[in-house]
Amino acid sequence: MKIPPLDLKRQYASIKDEIDSAIQNVLNHGGFVLGPEVKELEIKLAEYCETKNGIGVASGTDALLLSLMAVGIKPGDEVITSTFTFFATGGVISRLGARPVFVDIDPDTFNIDPVFVENAVTSKTRAIIPVHLYGQIAEMDEISALAKKHDIPIIEDAAQAVGSTYKGKKAGSFGLTGCFSFYPTKNLGGYGDGGFITTDDDETADLLRRLRLHGARPKYFHALVGINSRLDSMQAAALLVKLKHLPEWHEARRARAQYYDKMLSDIDQVKTPLVRDYNYHIYHQYTILAEKRDELREHLKSRDIGCEIYYPLPMHLQECFKNLGYKKGDMPAAEKAAGMAISIPIFPEMSAEEQDYVAETIREFYKT
Ligand SMILES: *Cc1c(COP(=O)(O)O)cnc(C)c1O
Repeated sequence: MKIPPLDLKRQYASIKDEIDSAIQNVLNHGGFVLGPEVKELEIKLAEYCETKNGIGVASGTDALLLSLMAVGIKPGDEVITSTFTFFATGGVISRLGARPVFVDIDPDTFNIDPVFVENAVTSKTRAIIPVHLYGQIAEMDEISALAKKHDIPIIEDAAQAVGSTYKGKKAGSFGLTGCFSFYPTKNLGGYGDGGFITTDDDETADLLRRLRLHGARPKYFHALVGINSRLDSMQAAALLVKLKHLPEWHEARRARAQYYDKMLSDIDQVKTPLVRDYNYHIYHQYTILAEKRDELREHLKSRDIGCEIYYPLPMHLQECFKNLGYKKGDMPAAEKAAGMAISIPIFPEMSAEEQDYVAETIREFYKT
């Protein structure tokens, strides 16, 4: 048996007719960039996220970058975020010449610890970027309260959490903006790059719509400098098809996560994901903490089981951030997670036999 970490071919086979006709439709009308499908997606996905506005952009990274541009981040500013995240979250801060201030995580959820966030606030803090890692929302009550107290905007990195909820409220609806990615492997993934920003603030939405088109208004007149970050219509057409299936796909992932929880519960060397009871986790990843993680990874690979390490090196220890002066040991929870976390295959179309094989292969590894 060969099990990929995620099987996009199987997903395509299940929705082929709908996707093919949606793409064909774009080829017929010819409005390839920011066309009618993009406008429809902006309305429908904002509605799904329970926010007033949605803005299609070129990637999740750009969604973060544009959000920071919209709040006016500039050299000398500080932006607080998690050290345990995909590089984009930290990279966009540096690209604007600002200083990323990395903080440690709650070891149980892998999400930013609000206590560390509060301790990191200074007079230069201009934004906080909580990351909803693996599909579970960060502790937004505490983070929102401290952001409000210090009058600092929140930009949510919801790239892995489209449709997740926290106390009944959707990812992307807590911050000034919510940032999403349509990278093909995300729960709502396109057939190429794409991204999305949600916001309840009309002025911010308006500014973001300008910034994604080089700041123009009207066309060819520039009172501000933006970037080129547009969503194309073929992506939007495919995403509109997939959006209809998203709730059922989330449920299928959750059922498979529960099955893993049960199958792996008696293996002492493995810790299955902890979910806060007020969170609806969408399991973008099913990530376990495993003893002898690197050997386990080799073992799984030798048995044709796709797995990945998200993420092997926290941001504060990345070479490009050396100048920030962090050192090993500064963020013990993230460093420990980086050494023990491994994400095993999970996708809506995965069969029970495939899950049994993964669980048995893990069990076999620790017996030998
Ligand atoms: C995928 C991802 C991004 C970036 O999205 P792209 O569309 O690849 O640019 C940012 N943050 C997190 C946490 C992600 O998982």
